[in-house]
Amino acid sequence: MSQVYGKVALIGLGLIASSMFWAMKRGGVAGEVSGYARSEATRDTARRIGLCDTVCDSAEAAVTGADLVVLAVPVGAMGTVAAAIAPYLKPGATVIDVGSVKGAVVAEVGPHIPETVHFVPTHPMAGTEHSGPESGFATLFDNRWTLIVPPEGADPAAVERVEAYWQALGANCERMEVEHHDLVCAVVSHIPHLIAYTMVGVADDLSRVSDQEVIKFSAAGFRDFTRIAASDPTMWRDVFLTNKAATLEMLGRFTEELFALQRAIRTGDGEELFDYFTRTRAIRRGIIQAGQDTDAPDFGRGKRHE
Ligand code: NAP
Repeated sequence: MSQVYGKVALIGLGLIASSMFWAMKRGGVAGEVSGYARSEATRDTARRIGLCDTVCDSAEAAVTGADLVVLAVPVGAMGTVAAAIAPYLKPGATVIDVGSVKGAVVAEVGPHIPETVHFVPTHPMAGTEHSGPESGFATLFDNRWTLIVPPEGADPAAVERVEAYWQALGANCERMEVEHHDLVCAVVSHIPHLIAYTMVGVADDLSRVSDQEVIKFSAAGFRDFTRIAASDPTMWRDVFLTNKAATLEMLGRFTEELFALQRAIRTGDGEELFDYFTRTRAIRRGIIQAGQDTDAPDFGRGKRHE
């Protein structure tokens, strides 16, 4: 048991917040946890499943007296939520967010945070295609990376405490600058999601291949796209609207590579294709060696709560 904060307030009670709650419970990381979600339905579900020690009917009540406030809502809602809670934040408290984009969050949330409160943007690089209060589980962050993106002039002690908090939830931490964060995430997360959405959309549009065939033979590769493409539409709409520059830049690079492969196929350049696929295979092996995935044929699905 290693308590890092006394009272923690979770604003938004979806996959990430609920996983944080169960991980806090598991490790005794917080003295008490209050929570707030905008809809009554989500608050009722949270109360029913014991998510949070107290579920409040207003964000104001949830953050009052909190030592740590976690903004766990879609990126597009962060600024509005920050403005609403700002007057009720305790002096000396820390606010973190868990948004998938950092430039937009720093710009939208930062100006609302009072001088007396620390703001440390964070991003857990862990998730599933599920959302809502019932989708969380305590091990989501275990051995996964959480990126810590402190703004210039952030209080070093507050940043270290945020790191200690994420480590207590099971994560490894790495610090990154805002712009670099958004570029890295465009490569490892945002563009792969866009490609998955596109591929599933293409299959849906085809008339020469029936829906039944797509579903029946999906284990040939399509299935893994569909898992990613089932991710929350609100969250991903906001990611692309707020990480425009980096995703457009990476999409340009992706399109160039795709054209190169298209050309290799048309001209029958087997060597080019073979060399390309050999390079990409090495990246997959690197991920497995780093403990960031399993080499089980079904990606270890049976073992994880996904
Ligand atoms: P989620 O399961 O969809 O939950 C979102 C929560 O935010 C819900 O409690 C929802 O309340 C609330 N919310 C939605 N719109 C809101 C608004 N306009 N104002 C106030 N509250 C609002 O989402 P999540 O997957 O936990 O994602 C939360 C954050 O974590 C996002 O910023 C996302 O980018 C980031 N993130 C997600 C993942 C992932 O894989 N899912 C990974 C890393 C980071 P109601 O239920 O009442 O609607």
